[in-house]
Amino acid sequence: MGIGEAWQSAAADLVVGADCAGCGSPGLDWCHACAAACRPAPRLVPGAADVPVLAVVDNVGPAARVVVAWKDRGRLRLTRPLGHLLAVGCATAPFEGRTGLVPVPTARAQVRRRGADPVRLLAERAARDLVAVGLDATALPALRRVRSTRDQAGLGALERRTNVAGAFAADPAVVARCVRAGIEEVIVVDDVLTTGASVREAVRALAAAGVRTSAVVVVAHTPRPGPGPG
Ligand SMILES: [Zn+2]
Repeated sequence: MGIGEAWQSAAADLVVGADCAGCGSPGLDWCHACAAACRPAPRLVPGAADVPVLAVVDNVGPAARVVVAWKDRGRLRLTRPLGHLLAVGCATAPFEGRTGLVPVPTARAQVRRRGADPVRLLAERAARDLVAVGLDATALPALRRVRSTRDQAGLGALERRTNVAGAFAADPAVVARCVRAGIEEVIVVDDVLTTGASVREAVRALAAAGVRTSAVVVVAHTPRPGPGPG
């Protein structure tokens, strides 16, 4: 495996210093002004899946830029502030006893290219933040991709649904571990919610393996364009 983009980006940051991923100002990966603009405000996204779906911020402005820098440009140090936003959302979700945070699996080609699965890192970071405030959470990478899918960017709602239908399956070994650990319900987590096709497929694949999803929590929600002429 070659050197992942994350390492190249980290190396570049060490040499030239970081710019804020939200506004480009020099000095910090994520400046105080952008952090203040993206204060967590978890709210329900109605109709996105058959379980409650919570989004922590809107996928606009600095929030949208930080997600792109983190996911598409390999700035994985941003997992920390994004994981914190996700943790705040999870703490607001229906949450009882020990809870597993199940990341929506990233496409294998993207994991190879980036040198890591960013959403899995996000789940791990959020679980650590929840444990730090006394909640019993653990990252549970229970889903894997069983077939390849097209990049969802640019696809409409129906195309996205068809694209991911049957694409995920629960890993029986992880499900067994979940049962042994006394985890009865899980929260599905992802970075961005657009139409909800991926999280619905995740909930379906978990249910097919007998795992109940109590809620879906995403960092950012891309507001749908209003009904226009066509
Ligand atoms: Zn900034």
